Amino acid sequence: MRLKSGSRLSGRRSDSSAGSATSADGASPRNQLFLSFFLARYARRRALPFASFAIVVGAAFGAAALVFLISLFAYEASAIMRTAAAVLAGAGVFAAAHRKLAADHAERRAALTLSSGLLDANRECLKLLDADGRMLRITEFGADLMNAESPEQLAGADWLGFWSGADRTAADAAWSGAIAGERTSFTGQCATATGCPKWWDSRLIPLAEDDGRVTAMLCASTDVSEQNELLAKLRSKDQLMSEMEAHVRLVFYSYSADFQYFHYVSAGIEPVFGIAPCVLMQKPSAWLDLVLQEDVEALLAEMRRVVEESSEGRILYRIRRTDGCVRWIRSTAYPVRDETGAVARIVGISEDVTAEQERITALDRLAYSDSLTGLANRGALVRQIEARCAKSVPFGLMFIDLDRFKVLNDTLGHTAADRLLKDIGRVIQAALPPDAYVARLGGDEFAVLAGSTADKSRLASLAQTLLDVLSSSGRNDHAGAFVTASIGISLYPEHGVDHEALLTSADIAMYAAKKAGRNGFRFADKDATGTIEDFELERDLPMALASGEFLLHYQGIHEPGALSMTSVEALIRWMHPARGLIAPAVFIPILEESGFIVDVGAWVVDRALGQLAEWRTSGASELCMSVNVSARQLRGDAIVNVVDRALRKHGLPPRSLEIELTESALLENPELAQQTLTALKRLGVRIAIDDFGTGYSSLRYLADIAPDTVKIDRSFTAKLALDAATRTIVRGIIDMSHDLGIMVTAEGVEEEQQLDILREAKCDFVQGYHLSRPVAPLVLDFGGVQQASAA
Ligand code: C2E
Ligand code: MG
Ligand code: MG
Repeated sequence: MRLKSGSRLSGRRSDSSAGSATSADGASPRNQLFLSFFLARYARRRALPFASFAIVVGAAFGAAALVFLISLFAYEASAIMRTAAAVLAGAGVFAAAHRKLAADHAERRAALTLSSGLLDANRECLKLLDADGRMLRITEFGADLMNAESPEQLAGADWLGFWSGADRTAADAAWSGAIAGERTSFTGQCATATGCPKWWDSRLIPLAEDDGRVTAMLCASTDVSEQNELLAKLRSKDQLMSEMEAHVRLVFYSYSADFQYFHYVSAGIEPVFGIAPCVLMQKPSAWLDLVLQEDVEALLAEMRRVVEESSEGRILYRIRRTDGCVRWIRSTAYPVRDETGAVARIVGISEDVTAEQERITALDRLAYSDSLTGLANRGALVRQIEARCAKSVPFGLMFIDLDRFKVLNDTLGHTAADRLLKDIGRVIQAALPPDAYVARLGGDEFAVLAGSTADKSRLASLAQTLLDVLSSSGRNDHAGAFVTASIGISLYPEHGVDHEALLTSADIAMYAAKKAGRNGFRFADKDATGTIEDFELERDLPMALASGEFLLHYQGIHEPGALSMTSVEALIRWMHPARGLIAPAVFIPILEESGFIVDVGAWVVDRALGQLAEWRTSGASELCMSVNVSARQLRGDAIVNVVDRALRKHGLPPRSLEIELTESALLENPELAQQTLTALKRLGVRIAIDDFGTGYSSLRYLADIAPDTVKIDRSFTAKLALDAATRTIVRGIIDMSHDLGIMVTAEGVEEEQQLDILREAKCDFVQGYHLSRPVAPLVLDFGGVQQASAA
């Protein structure tokens, strides 16, 4: 874009003083010297052209004739004398005229040579104008500059008419000055012959007559369009840079390769660093003095690296400005190489990224902290472990899991449980030295990176301190919740060199601590194969239900006479994808501990009753189903709804279902269990006490709970044939139960002899490998199902 205003930037002028030091004949003394030299050099005498020579000869003859005529009046002169005088006069005139004309001719030739040389050398648009401003002549080159086809095209054109607006005013002023005899000049834009505008620097040189009257004008105009355009571009770039530097909080700099001085620092240094650019020019290290001590070393190292490796650098550091506030600065540096390839200087940009850093810190805090407790979260812990591993300094990791927290969670409700977790987070942190790093991994799991110690006895005492403070009665405000924890400890590098190995080792150790009775700690053990297997099962269990890995086997319960099957007991199995069929004794305790037994138990009830409904419709219309229920399931009334819904769903009478509870289940929370049992009974479901005789206060339960059935534990059955005392006890249980209106089933019948004794003792039902083994539903043989049994 061509800027009209550029004319003003370039300084329009009407210079009447130009060429003021001129002599009366129009040339300055220096130019006169030049002209004299030139003329002396080139004005050599040459043969006169014929016409001039003829004039000289004519003049000589004329002079001779004149002298001869005059001599006729001298009577005394002889003819010889007269002739001699005429010849002498003719020769004298010839010599003088010839000399004069030859000199004039030489000078004219030299002047012509010089003028034509000057015109050839001239790169201006040179025009001869008459006193009215009309173009008399324009040079060939000038016509070219004016985009004219030939000089003739412009002949007679009105020179002033080329200008318009402010340029016309300037042209008029310059013209008036020139007409008055002054040399003037001005800059302006006018259109060429093709209409294309050009910028010109024009000088007007008046050509005056002897009487001082200006009769013509020499106008020399230089085409400055390109210069002007370039200048305008530079100015606009310069302006843009100044605007950017003024408004953008960036520091542009050019630093010497040895960092001894700045070639340039933009004005942005003032708002960013609080230092004026001139201060940096005087003391180039002034900015470095502001850098926080902790960041100086890394910054200097990066600066050196940029020069040594001759590659781009980028670094983040903090400064404390003179006003005291700390700012984050990000500097980018690019090495500029000279022609030899050596780094000549460093150019770059520095910017204040404090706001960005604060946002990152806030996001980091959000991403790496646990929203409930405000402690670090798993991600932060992982980062912390990896950072410590990278330093290769031994350290210990504690994995803390609260014991039976699921139970507390259900009992207290989520809000109170959350408060409890918060409280526990605080307790853990308060109990540890300040350099300990505490994180909550989720749920009831916490982790601690114990300062810089990897000393086992120190870690053991820290773990014990934690266990003590957690089990102390400091949380009475949480409905008297009594919290204990199990802690697993792994050591770097003994138990792993990365976060995964260390966390897994600590987790397994924690699991071992739980198995050992909870409220304790264990160090990770290299050959904890069994524990790892248990750990893997525990890890896989939550997915097993959704993945359909649970299944039910059924074992018949028979009447002792004809041994017809009156009922079946549903016994759960876990088909583990890697380890095959797993017995309930292995995983039921884990399900109970984790609380998953509630969901799995509901599934068992539904599946078992669904199966019973199928069997009933396919012939075994009076068959009943026994389902085992854990203590954990009796803690709420969910089981009542589950049972009720399943019975309705499968269209079964409540008495076709018997719920088996172990004595220990009843012991855990007698009041709660009692309430749930009452509700179940109200539904019409039958209740059996399983493994009877293995628990305490067994007889009392018979009165309190009034079950429909008692299942004598197979440890009694096993000794029936061998031990008279056991026979007496078993007979006593049967008689007493009958007196209370309770039926008796004997479990674990493996021999005919045991069956005989039980028959004789009037045992109502028998169950055991001797009669039928627990099998998959398709395999179950109903041979002799008693049609009207317990129902
Ligand atoms: P339980 O309820 O006392 O079940 C009887 C257990 O004795 C079954 O073991 C059965 O296979 C086994 N058994 C039956 N007859 C004989 C015999 O003649 N000799 C011997 N040595 N054992 C016999 P299983 O299936 O391993 O179940 C073990 C326990 O797991 C069950 O004891 C029950 O307490 C629990 N259980 C099984 N399924 C479930 C369930 O769905 N929910 C709950 N909560 N517990 C279950
Ligand atoms: Mg049972
Ligand atoms: Mg049993």
